[in-house]
Amino acid sequence: MSVLRDALLAGSHNQFLRETAPKLPFVRRSVSRFLPGEEIEDAMRAGVELERNNLRVLLTRIGENVTEAKEANAVGDHYLQLMSVMHQRLRLRPEVSVKLTQLGLDLGIALCMENLCRLIEAMPADDIFWIDMESSEYVDVTLELYQRCKRRYPNVGVCLQSYLYRTEKDIAELAPLKPAIRLVKGAYKEPADVAYPKKADVDENFFHLTRTMLRTPGIFPVMATHDTVLIERIKKLTVEMGIPKDGLSYTFLYGIKKAEQLRLAQEGWDSRVLVSYGKAWFPWFMRRLAERPANVWFVMRNLLG
Ligand SMILES: Cc1cc2nc3c(=O)[nH]c(=O)nc-3n(C[C@H](O)[C@H](O)[C@H](O)COP(=O)(O)OP(=O)(O)OC[C@H]3O[C@@H](n4cnc5c(N)ncnc54)[C@H](O)[C@@H]3O)c2cc1C
Repeated sequence: MSVLRDALLAGSHNQFLRETAPKLPFVRRSVSRFLPGEEIEDAMRAGVELERNNLRVLLTRIGENVTEAKEANAVGDHYLQLMSVMHQRLRLRPEVSVKLTQLGLDLGIALCMENLCRLIEAMPADDIFWIDMESSEYVDVTLELYQRCKRRYPNVGVCLQSYLYRTEKDIAELAPLKPAIRLVKGAYKEPADVAYPKKADVDENFFHLTRTMLRTPGIFPVMATHDTVLIERIKKLTVEMGIPKDGLSYTFLYGIKKAEQLRLAQEGWDSRVLVSYGKAWFPWFMRRLAERPANVWFVMRNLLG
């Protein structure tokens, strides 16, 4: 299975596949399970439906590693437009989650910071603006920019990955800033000198880091996983520790584990769904396939009609 995972993650960088695969009808049919559509309107429709079920919504426009400043600025403009539309249309104050390389990080810190600040400033003060975490070579710079932003704006959160050995230390360093931390397992192909190669270790570290965050005053932990075994363990832990139901949040990706999303919301937990939309979905879709190789059979079924 790890061979298939590696092949899918390698495929996400393949230029030929990036250009040709998204045009194939069976690939487009397959991605629609995870992506409500390519436009803001599609994301809004999905958001309204989720809110009907008391699920809060986070939105992200898929994209990464922009190569021109004007493209990065256009992404910033797009998010400003999104925020203005969504705050009129969605009742439960949606949040936004963005990759820094989408805002021009590869082109320079100043450009990225400028785009980032104008977006955070447009976010209502009570809602969190989220910074995604990308592959390991971006972790230092992402955390540096996060810390700079957090000193200026209280309502900014960052994603950390339990597959990285360094994450426990990162949590300890961020803690004095009273951060909102979205913990994920990690979606990129990483070498064994930076990340746990075995899934069981990644899962156990997720639980360990959750406990660390719950014990650390000031951190708002967001558990971003579809792993129902882990979720049950975390629920039990919060009860043992006397953490109230609004002391943490659970967040899912659109289209994955829908019944669990609803169940948590019905039980009174803060349960959220990250809805992705946009045209540049191919590398993102390959990461979704790599997370669950059974998804490849789902794609094949779409090929066979
Ligand atoms: C809200 C949110 C934000 C995220 N942000 C980031 C980020 O900024 N940076 C980053 O590196 N990663 C991010 N991720 C992805 C994350 O790192 C994992 O790759 C992904 O969540 C799969 O791991 P898991 O915790 O669900 O556990 P797993 O053990 O991989 O999965 C548990 C179970 O969930 C189901 N499942 C998981 N993934 C899929 C899938 N793709 N299709 C169908 N079923 C699936 C399966 O039933 C599986 O058995 C995010 C994930 C979420 C939920």
